[in-house]
Amino acid sequence: MTIKKIMLLVAMNKEAQPIIKKMNMREIEHKMDSQLPAFAFEADMDKGKLILVVSGKCTIHEVDRIGTQGLNLVAWEALKFFKPDILINPGTAGGFKKNGSMPGDIFVSTDSIKYHDRLFHPDMHFLNYGIGSFKCAPIPFIAKRLGLKEGVVSTGASLLSSQQENEQMVKNKAAAKDMEAAGIAEVAQMRGVPFIALKIITDLVDTDDCPQNQFTNNFDKLITHLADKVQALCTILMGEQLEKISELSISHDDVLKHKIS
Ligand code: SAH
Repeated sequence: MTIKKIMLLVAMNKEAQPIIKKMNMREIEHKMDSQLPAFAFEADMDKGKLILVVSGKCTIHEVDRIGTQGLNLVAWEALKFFKPDILINPGTAGGFKKNGSMPGDIFVSTDSIKYHDRLFHPDMHFLNYGIGSFKCAPIPFIAKRLGLKEGVVSTGASLLSSQQENEQMVKNKAAAKDMEAAGIAEVAQMRGVPFIALKIITDLVDTDDCPQNQFTNNFDKLITHLADKVQALCTILMGEQLEKISELSISHDDVLKHKIS
């Protein structure tokens, strides 16, 4: 099937704005449930349409509706209404110094999207449900060409993590720690839509430095790099055969043709 509609689902408005600007997107009316505070944007690319949906502001606490609770409902409504050929969740994440990660590294999801904070030990019956292990579309060659790292994205409900959650992240072989990808990936899998998480590392979670302080200090100088890679990835994927993106290797000429950074 030819990819003609890509949807980007973004948790925070400040993550979405650089992408909206880079892709010259315009806000559009939508028929998602009006009681969800989500916003939608679109842009016409050479070979198809790009949609961006951002979660919106919590009407009670007036901050971005981040986290799986924030994005689950939006993901369901957005996929039901826009019916994209593929769904990408660009966003920020924590990385791991022990893996050699640095703020600014950009990971594309590989293997499967996992939870690290839905723990039921010693109940083995709910073990795998808790971890989730939701499908993500492998794009190893595109990742290599775009200078993206590949790794497991592990999701939890908090910027912080307990010792037990840290232990689960090790079991998950987590490369990037976020708060949304697994919740979105489950909905994508339920609705049969291929899913990719694209995460820029804003902080390292296995250092003595507070993740929030690192996030605050790094966000503004890093977030435009994510928008650059979102543009490059969407430019490559749009118009390609969905079944072939896992083996799609792009030549240097393609990179130049697509003006891909
Ligand atoms: N307090 C922040 C907002 C939350 S940061 C602010 O100052 O704006 C958490 C958001 O960034 C979530 O959307 C999550 O997906 C991502 N994130 C970045 N670093 C993370 C980390 N170390 N752990 C979990 N999520 C992280």
